[in-house]
Amino acid sequence: MSTTLDIRNLHVQVEGKEIIKGLSLTVRGGEVHAIMGPNGSGKSTLAYTLTGHPRYEVTEGSVTLNGQDLLAMEADARSRAGMFLAFQYPSEVPGVSVANFLRTAINARRGEGDEISVMEFARKLRAKMAMLEMDDAFAGRYLNEGFSGGEKKRNEILQMAMLEPKVAILDEADSGLDIDALKIVANGVNQLRNPELGVIVITHYQRILRYLKPDVVHVLMNGQIVHSGGDELAEALEEKGYDWIKEDVNGR
Ligand code: ADP
Ligand code: MG
Repeated sequence: MSTTLDIRNLHVQVEGKEIIKGLSLTVRGGEVHAIMGPNGSGKSTLAYTLTGHPRYEVTEGSVTLNGQDLLAMEADARSRAGMFLAFQYPSEVPGVSVANFLRTAINARRGEGDEISVMEFARKLRAKMAMLEMDDAFAGRYLNEGFSGGEKKRNEILQMAMLEPKVAILDEADSGLDIDALKIVANGVNQLRNPELGVIVITHYQRILRYLKPDVVHVLMNGQIVHSGGDELAEALEEKGYDWIKEDVNGR
């Protein structure tokens, strides 16, 4: 079944304050959507709302994944339904290896009695690491402990590869990365692109989009998508900033 994430007229409050103010967006399998916007415009709020963070209160609108009502589900059910959020600042988990963490995460999704076999897991891990051009030794390291910025991001991409989500959201996956690490993230996502996976890349900067080549670029301002366009929009934003859009919107 092909993937469709459908967000309609979404309104979200955080601690009584409305942050997302009527946002609509449809993301289908095979598509990469970039969401850009100034700081504080609600980008992370959207990411956390979609993945079910309890702090974000939806007051109006709907979100469905292949017709299923996501908003009615707890965060873990959403994850099982295929939602994935790559963290901006992944935490260190000493004593838990990358491989162990991944196996636990996969089994949490599959549920009791349906655990992945050790053999199958090892085979899958090896295949995904090869695809992402990662060294085998990486799997034995403790999660994020002493990882460089690039390794942390790589690990997030490996998680995405192993969990095979339907919708992957990357919130500022590019912040604080040097150009090599940036390419790793972009290449990783490009490798994982497939007709069943919709990707939402949230970013403040245009840099990563040069490698990712999104199908659509949206500008989020003040809790609404105020403009959507192709690849060229990202470049225009890089050159001219967001002010011209602000004026455009106000001038309507
Ligand atoms: P962006 O990711 O686009 O920079 P955010 O979604 O993080 O924007 O924030 C949008 C607005 O919501 C900001 O004004 C921010 O202060 C507020 N906000 C977001 N999360 C919280 C929170 N957990 N508690 C209080 N305010 C929040
Ligand atoms: Mg943010």
